[in-house]
Amino acid sequence: MSKHNKNIRNLSISDFYCTQCGLKGVPILRTAGREREPGHLKKLFCLNCQKECNMVEIKPRGKYTLDDFLLEFEHGNFDENGNRKKVWKQFIREVKNNE
Ligand SMILES: [Zn+2]
Repeated sequence: MSKHNKNIRNLSISDFYCTQCGLKGVPILRTAGREREPGHLKKLFCLNCQKECNMVEIKPRGKYTLDDFLLEFEHGNFDENGNRKKVWKQFIREVKNNE
């Protein structure tokens, strides 16, 4: 197996969801393996908001899922700049404790 083939196998497509409007942005091809923290934030242009917004990265087999994003979005855990009011781990712990 050549290095080239190995690199292709390690690519995955990440979905991005806007912290301001909650809609799905343009997916980005990423190199797998370099796992960031769950729900990594990245500044991207949102077609719906017509400006650069922080978007949450959702990997195909990552720990952070679309349901997790919707939970944060509905609870208003993102401020007007798209930053988290509470860090993810603290947020999810508090939500689960209140259930
Ligand atoms: Zn948006």
